[in-house]
Amino acid sequence: MPDQESTRRTVVIGNWKMHKTGAEGVALAAGIVAGLRPGRAEVAVAPPFTALAPVAAAIRGSSVALAAQDVFHEREGAFTGAVSAPMLAATGCSIVLVGHSERRHVFGDGDEDVRRKALSVLGAGMRPVVCVGETLEQRDAGRAEDVVREQLEAAVRGLSDARLAPLLVAYEPVWAIGTGRTATPDTAETMHRVIRSSLAALAGPAAAERMPILYGGSVKGDNAGAILSGANVDGLLVGGASLRADSFLDICHAAG
Ligand code: PEP
Repeated sequence: MPDQESTRRTVVIGNWKMHKTGAEGVALAAGIVAGLRPGRAEVAVAPPFTALAPVAAAIRGSSVALAAQDVFHEREGAFTGAVSAPMLAATGCSIVLVGHSERRHVFGDGDEDVRRKALSVLGAGMRPVVCVGETLEQRDAGRAEDVVREQLEAAVRGLSDARLAPLLVAYEPVWAIGTGRTATPDTAETMHRVIRSSLAALAGPAAAERMPILYGGSVKGDNAGAILSGANVDGLLVGGASLRADSFLDICHAAG
């Protein structure tokens, strides 16, 4: 098998969650654009919906991409409060998170929602980031690998290799998100290997080798490099540390 590890581009996405007004988002994005050194990492920011348009304007012409934190799978219609994939694409998004653990555990998104959302994102010409990850109870019960396999399979089953090409996966153990408790580099690499072999079974080895798999869960500037040292860890999904330009830039620069 060719050595594809070196050809997968490192991707770093800052998930701002429910933080930042439009004006605050513009200031943060401007700080990131101003401080980002050219490197091999592809960098994106995911502001809340209300800040997408002003942040899109603030990053225009830079190498920073715009991501959304969620989407509803229908194109349009009587779905009060929802935002569709074509709307996100028209606002300048190229990446959309689907199945983030807070969507699954706070808002009740199930595997079928995640699948529909991923399909709608692909249909609008953007790249879905399918987030998977086990809870602490599931890990303690020895089910971590089965849980991520099941979540992944539910999200991508039946999709052809070509259809899956733009997809990214994020491994985010629920017990590591916003807790300050990070997976060790060994645990992250083990889980990423499990994900890649599941992808190979679902979509073929070539598609699996090409697909970036990001780690998320209490990543900071001082642990980013160690986590990224895993051969199957292709990037980072960053929450808390993406809310300040300096801490996010430290992570982006650690990624290359
Ligand atoms: C996240 O929001 O996806 C995340 C990983 O958060 P944190 O970095 O704060 O753990």
